[in-house]
Amino acid sequence: MATVARIASSTVRQSCAGSAARPFLVDVSLMNCGSAGRHCGTETVPGHGPHELSTGEVEAVLDDLSAIGAPRPRVVFSGGDPLRRPDLQTLVAHAAGAGLPVGVSVTSTPRATASSLATLRLCGASAVSFSIGGASAATHDGICGVDGSFGSTIDACRAAVRVGLRLQVSTTVRASTVFELPGIARLVDGVRAAMWNLFFEVPTKCTPTSEALSAAETEDVLAFLFDLAPQVPLETTEAPSFRRLLVHGVRGAPERTPGALYRRLRARLADEWPLADRRAGSWPAPEGGHGRTPLAAGDGCGGVFVSHIGEVQPSRFLPLVVGNVRDTPLSELYANAPLLKALRDPAAHHGRCGRCELNAICGGSRAQAYARSGDPLAEDPTCDHRPAAEG
Ligand code: SF4
Repeated sequence: MATVARIASSTVRQSCAGSAARPFLVDVSLMNCGSAGRHCGTETVPGHGPHELSTGEVEAVLDDLSAIGAPRPRVVFSGGDPLRRPDLQTLVAHAAGAGLPVGVSVTSTPRATASSLATLRLCGASAVSFSIGGASAATHDGICGVDGSFGSTIDACRAAVRVGLRLQVSTTVRASTVFELPGIARLVDGVRAAMWNLFFEVPTKCTPTSEALSAAETEDVLAFLFDLAPQVPLETTEAPSFRRLLVHGVRGAPERTPGALYRRLRARLADEWPLADRRAGSWPAPEGGHGRTPLAAGDGCGGVFVSHIGEVQPSRFLPLVVGNVRDTPLSELYANAPLLKALRDPAAHHGRCGRCELNAICGGSRAQAYARSGDPLAEDPTCDHRPAAEG
């Protein structure tokens, strides 16, 4: 377990103090969501908006980020389907030319062809991400609302790897599809993804609260992911307490053992991917495994979101606007906006997160706190950890 702790502490997130001056992951949404599905959880409407950032305005944001200097932040172009932006190639090339590592969050549509992915690579993109919501066509297509999406997504993932793009697969963790995770893990391995990002659903106006996991269920899923991590490179979004497991080097909070959901996920893994089940939990990673720990880019702490109309939020899942890049440079907003400064300050957090000995490496999900209490500085209600200060 000392090995786990060493791996974790070497790559675990920068402390909020370390990321106070500059973001290291900037999510730039280029357009309103046009997806028929409900992957992302953002409250958006289809189509181009009249106030969408122009090419020049996005380039000004990129230049501002470049001027921060090395190490420059990573930029991800997102939106419902950034491939619908006719200037996407121009923007990717501008970002790459400005020295910014750049990726594109791609929706699997007929536009996501091997040719369009190869063009993105030629323009300077280093990575792409695709969303896989279910382990089969029936479940994935049902979530997307698009027949045939599962097959085209798998094809596009393989094409991305073939043209030299680093592939990330994103999956939303929600109650109705949580048992898909073992099968999706096998798919992630099969398409040779460099990273599997598991987004823990945050309740929003357009996603029912009943789909978000409870704290006990979240702990069980994190314990399952802890077992899988040596086999599949993975990270969590809006569940930063996964780092607690990595630092402790145990499956769950010291005071609790994994519950029924964990056992069912492991049983499913044994059925669907016996080899991974046999190796599960085998830290350090076996030869060929990854064993990587996630680098956090939390809400306003390392990560920041720019909407298609220039509004800046801590993340796309924490809908509190701190300014607009049309009025104030993003670098200035990130460093000085009072809300972002508070989110990065462990002393400003309330409840268990405010008392937690692991706040500097976790900080709690500020989006989950806000969604369920209305206070972005409240304790993360999806974490079951009892801080040491509470005995
Ligand atoms: S109590 Fe808060 S800071 Fe501590 S591990 Fe849980 S979510 Fe993270």
